[in-house]
Amino acid sequence: MVTGAGQINDPDINEIVSQLPLVHQNSPDTIMWRHPSGQFSVKSATELIQPPKDRVVWHGLLQGRYKIPRHNFILWLAILEKLSTLDKHWISRGDNGCVLCDGQYVESHDHLFFNCLYTRRCLQIVQRQVRFHWPLSGWQQCIKWASKRWRYEHLINAASRALLAALVYYIWIERNNRKFTATSSAAEYVARRVIEEVWLRILSDKFIPSLQTRTLYRIWKIAWPIGL
Ligand SMILES: [Zn+2]
Repeated sequence: MVTGAGQINDPDINEIVSQLPLVHQNSPDTIMWRHPSGQFSVKSATELIQPPKDRVVWHGLLQGRYKIPRHNFILWLAILEKLSTLDKHWISRGDNGCVLCDGQYVESHDHLFFNCLYTRRCLQIVQRQVRFHWPLSGWQQCIKWASKRWRYEHLINAASRALLAALVYYIWIERNNRKFTATSSAAEYVARRVIEEVWLRILSDKFIPSLQTRTLYRIWKIAWPIGL
């Protein structure tokens, strides 16, 4: 961007410069690139011309070192309320009762996560085994809450994000099993699979001896390596 004119020969630029107030009377004119980096590049030019779009508030929920892609895909659909729940009349064609509880409640994202008796029980069993706070409110309010609560890249937060994704994934798998294969599992089984999968994901990550790791291992009941 031009802040003054020294040896500029372009008549259009000179006309513009002539209209500008003289703000630096005792210093020479300079040309500077008004980007935070101060350096011209194609990237910085693109950012100046087209500022980055606002990220959605839940963007961070799908990030983190313990993320499991297939879980995150289902969580992403759930956040967008794009799972094929039966509250959508073009999917249910009349029978829209939740297959996880007694069928008296309409299956919706709000109901499945976690107002359903069955999924609430899954959540409670998980909470008895690992520290996982979840506000029992509307699904979208909870997503906003979690996005803010777990926004920092702390190992505990990364594990909480992975746990939420695993819960949503296995609940959706159980729902599909009941609906399409007429098989069912107890809430204890679903909760155990959720915990096992995140537990294994944490264990398979590179071990870094730190206070964060020690806290995480204590919460997840993972034995601390002998000698460290
Ligand atoms: Zn239900």
